[in-house]
Amino acid sequence: MQIPTNIKECQFCNESISINANLCKHCNRVQLSEAKIKKNINTIRDDNSGYFSLLIFAISIFLFYQFESFYISISCFFALLIILYSVSFFYGKSIRKKLSIFEIYQEAQKIEKRNNINSIIFLSIIGSILVFVFLTNPTKNDFKEYLKSEVKQEVSEQLFAKKNNPISGIFIDLINNSMPKELDNFIQRDNYYFFSVYKFNSGIENIETKQFIGVSFVFFNFK
Ligand SMILES: [Zn+2]
Repeated sequence: MQIPTNIKECQFCNESISINANLCKHCNRVQLSEAKIKKNINTIRDDNSGYFSLLIFAISIFLFYQFESFYISISCFFALLIILYSVSFFYGKSIRKKLSIFEIYQEAQKIEKRNNINSIIFLSIIGSILVFVFLTNPTKNDFKEYLKSEVKQEVSEQLFAKKNNPISGIFIDLINNSMPKELDNFIQRDNYYFFSVYKFNSGIENIETKQFIGVSFVFFNFK
């Protein structure tokens, strides 16, 4: 059957309406512009690419640690990203062929709603983490406690080989009582509110400054 040229189908109810009509006289709905249809197709197309991007990012970090090569991980990251975007480009083209405009519209609405909820959840999680690390940003004292416990553990491991070695007790007393006071002069703390950087310089020549990052209750030696 030939459709008359001055008539088109409503995108929502499939009734015939005038080719120039913006509003359907049968279901009262505004017809979607070509730009809006394209936007809906993009919404469906990009639905899972966020997760894939995260996966690609994780793979790149894994490769970075595996090969300790920045170049391998960055090349892999971009190669996978190009594959992802070519796949989603062709997927976007196939959506238009498979689904009616109304189905595309419905699917996009569903995804947008879900994405909004996901964004709220995501932002609340990130927000809670930031509040948590802000409130537990370690002080200079926390760092000294960390150093103390590290040294104590080292001493214990060395001297506790024989159980209850009396010397280890003396050393641990020594660390507990005199170490904190002495340490103050050697530690510089830079406060970045969500974490702190500590520079530990013994003042002894030929021994370079050690640097630590403290986040919440954890300390990392990075230099
Ligand atoms: Zn209609």
